[in-house]
Amino acid sequence: MSHEGIRFVPKQEQERTDQESQPLSRLAVKPEKVRVLMTEGKGLEIDWADGHKSAWSFAWLREACPCATCVEERKADGRKPGQPKPQPAQLLPVYTPPAKPASAHPVGRYAIQFNWLDGHSGGIYSWEYLRRVCQCPECAGAEAKCAEAKGEQKNA
Ligand SMILES: [Zn+2]
Ligand SMILES: [Zn+2]
Repeated sequence: MSHEGIRFVPKQEQERTDQESQPLSRLAVKPEKVRVLMTEGKGLEIDWADGHKSAWSFAWLREACPCATCVEERKADGRKPGQPKPQPAQLLPVYTPPAKPASAHPVGRYAIQFNWLDGHSGGIYSWEYLRRVCQCPECAGAEAKCAEAKGEQKNA
């Protein structure tokens, strides 16, 4: 057993990785099925035309809101999409229920919009954006895999 093929990217480098530089195929950003699990309060699930499957919780999506205000806010805090705001230490922690949308509706053929219960609704979640922030183990570990893939080729 050898671990030579696996290289761990130093944390700093990882954070600099620009995911948006990698082009996505047409099928990769074309949803075949979109499920908004509203009653269950679970989140959003998308089956893509290229066979990939993605799922996000509502709480994650709320923290990944792509509107200009939220993007700026995250940038200022150095947060990635989906990463919650750091909670200030409090004597009496306030319970905040996880974010949930009151409704969701498609925007044209390219995006979905949520009307969050907290009143926020400015974010347009394009299919491309969602695919880029896919949280499946494969995509979440894609950066590590990139380094790996260089020495590995599939002969199918
Ligand atoms: Zn927002
Ligand atoms: Zn994925």
